[in-house]
Amino acid sequence: MEKKNIDWANLGFGYMETDKRFVSNFKDGKWDDGVLTEDSKVVISECAGVLQYAQTIFEGLKAYTTEDGKIVCFRPDLNASRLADSARRLEMPVFSEDRFVEAVVDTVKANIGYVPPYGSGATLYIRPYMFGSNPVIGVKPADEYQFRIFCTPVGPYFKGGAKPITIKVSDFDRAAPHGTGHIKAGLNYAMSLHAIVTAHQEGFDENMYLDAATRTKVEETGGANFLFVTKDGKVVTPKSNSILPSITRRSLMVVAKDILGLEVEEREVYFDEVKDFAECGLCGTAAVISPVGKIYDHGKEICFPSGMEEMGPVTKKLYDTLTGIQMGRIEGPEGWIKVIQ
Ligand SMILES: *Cc1c(COP(=O)(O)O)cnc(C)c1O
Repeated sequence: MEKKNIDWANLGFGYMETDKRFVSNFKDGKWDDGVLTEDSKVVISECAGVLQYAQTIFEGLKAYTTEDGKIVCFRPDLNASRLADSARRLEMPVFSEDRFVEAVVDTVKANIGYVPPYGSGATLYIRPYMFGSNPVIGVKPADEYQFRIFCTPVGPYFKGGAKPITIKVSDFDRAAPHGTGHIKAGLNYAMSLHAIVTAHQEGFDENMYLDAATRTKVEETGGANFLFVTKDGKVVTPKSNSILPSITRRSLMVVAKDILGLEVEEREVYFDEVKDFAECGLCGTAAVISPVGKIYDHGKEICFPSGMEEMGPVTKKLYDTLTGIQMGRIEGPEGWIKVIQ
């Protein structure tokens, strides 16, 4: 398939309909084989479980072109297992993890002309998701589900360099202890919208959520995990049962320890210690790492020594190494890169 005529470098992060998407239905206790279809519309009952009680989960990953011209994606097996964990927590049927990876590959292949070229900074964002599709009015899990994967080309996350952002300590909570913070459910995002709109109105880029029970420990932002670097170069990430296990963050911790030889710690991080860190970054598929320059906490500011102009040195090394592995410039651990074509 020929490359589509798209201005890759100037794409934003928005939805663009592509040629094909994958659809599989769960009915009478089993998943069908699934098909690739040109039909981008979802037709479900007005009373579908997803519409009434938000029974929906999703994943996010990207396909891109490496330096040597291969089209690949990064650790899709972890998206498969995380979707399965999300499904179990919301009483949804598990979609086979192997079939998930195959379906991702098939969907990308069917839209290969939308995979941006190497060096453009753009990627093909892949969105797998599942929802309860049959009518549910008394509160209970749906009996029928749809699993779909669409993809959409998205532009470079950082246009003209990764500028540090400013975040605020939120007065809202993201996730309750023993709740659903550790799964990728739409409901966690619905309840975060008011908090992020408020933060933006106040001039901040993101929210830092604290643990809901004691409000003393750092959790994450609405859609990215924290990494901190201590003044003596140790990489620290918060540990909590209500944090979404970011694949980017888990990969960065492996890079820090096994490739860069840094000391790493996954542990509870008290907000009181944040002022003593040298660097701070947000990890997620979209940006890999967004550097944080400043944290605003009810009239007080924490300004990291790395400043508001560029990524801190350790954050930069982590970023360069992981993106190097993703782009095929650096050899990474076995199994991290799934070649599509
Ligand atoms: C998806 C997500 C992340 C980032 O996870 P990645 O697998 O690295 O993309 C972090 N926090 C939340 C709440 C998320 O939904």
